[in-house]
Amino acid sequence: MDILKEIDPEDLEYARSIREDLHRHPELAFAEHDTAKRVVDSLRKSSVELAATDLIGTGVVGLVRGVPTGPTVALRADMDALPITEETGLAYASENPGVMHACGHDGHTAIALTVARILARLGGQLPGSVKFIFQPAEEQGNGADHLVRAGVLSDSPAVDAVFGLHARPQIQAGQIELAAVPSAASNPFSIRIQGRGTHAAYPHEGIDPIAIGAQIVCALQQVVSRRVAPSEAAVLSIGSFQAGQRGNIIPDEALLRGTIRTRDPKVCDRVTTEFQRMAQQIAEAMGARCQVDMDEGTPRVRNDDGLVELVRRVGIESLGKEQVLFSTEITMGAEDFSFYLREQGGVPGCLFWLGVDCDAPIHSPTFDFGVEGLRSGILMMANIAIRFLSGDNQSCA
Ligand SMILES: [Zn+2]
Ligand SMILES: [Zn+2]
Repeated sequence: MDILKEIDPEDLEYARSIREDLHRHPELAFAEHDTAKRVVDSLRKSSVELAATDLIGTGVVGLVRGVPTGPTVALRADMDALPITEETGLAYASENPGVMHACGHDGHTAIALTVARILARLGGQLPGSVKFIFQPAEEQGNGADHLVRAGVLSDSPAVDAVFGLHARPQIQAGQIELAAVPSAASNPFSIRIQGRGTHAAYPHEGIDPIAIGAQIVCALQQVVSRRVAPSEAAVLSIGSFQAGQRGNIIPDEALLRGTIRTRDPKVCDRVTTEFQRMAQQIAEAMGARCQVDMDEGTPRVRNDDGLVELVRRVGIESLGKEQVLFSTEITMGAEDFSFYLREQGGVPGCLFWLGVDCDAPIHSPTFDFGVEGLRSGILMMANIAIRFLSGDNQSCA
């Protein structure tokens, strides 16, 4: 089956209007009720089968069935917005105060809905089936995990490969960017230091968790600088240090919270082991008790090499050779697309970055998506599905 060379202007107009509608009505992670309704309405109007609604609350799965003996490819779109007050001044700016589509998930959802509409028209001619996964709670880092546990990949027809895209304003609209590891593992942690409160004038009668916490914050800087090779990437940041109420009272306890970011599971193991040992032993040496809690977090995204090549070829055919970039930048952001992938027991897949017409970074109150980003996103996702189902899927052998 041939790939699409261009998008019908009516389909592009459909994408623009649905994206603006979603942008106007953003909802936070796991509360995408109205968004899910709009997704269901759109799929119904496009005569796309609803394989699941209300999955883990707000997840929706659309299905375009092609040749029944053919493979099944999944296209993922995340739907949640962020707790940010919009400052774009656009005609379709958020009407939900304090909530904004500042990460482009409105665009991702509009792209998937438009691709569903286009592929539904091809229907039975498709050499296999396409599952459209409308996912809640990417920003919380675990919506995909919940969906996979709920069977989104294994429910019939079982998914053979999964693709996703994410807006990236650092590249131009009309471009895509590929990487073997496009996003890092994120492991949030907390360290609770249990000391013994006392009057600040008599510190020797207590155990000061603030002084101990400060030692731990400083010592933890050694983990990345002295336990990780300079050729490896790792980050260990403390973003919160809570303790005490008054200047003249040493409190009972202190709570530190932070995040570890790594791009290689072996480095992740080393950093988490060293960091826990260091925090615990410093606290103990100073007479306090210390409890370290690690959140499972979000694993790295490790793309399938064969499917990266498939996306590269589709990118060249759909957008032009100079529009397909390979990332050399080491990014430490996280994406829960990882839960669909083989490293986590899922299927082969590829997440790629999509250029959008915007100078503002994602998660900024002035972020916007732009129609050219929608156009290239639709072409890419539709053509990836067509190429994969047509047998350009050697990586899955
Ligand atoms: Zn985001
Ligand atoms: Zn995002």
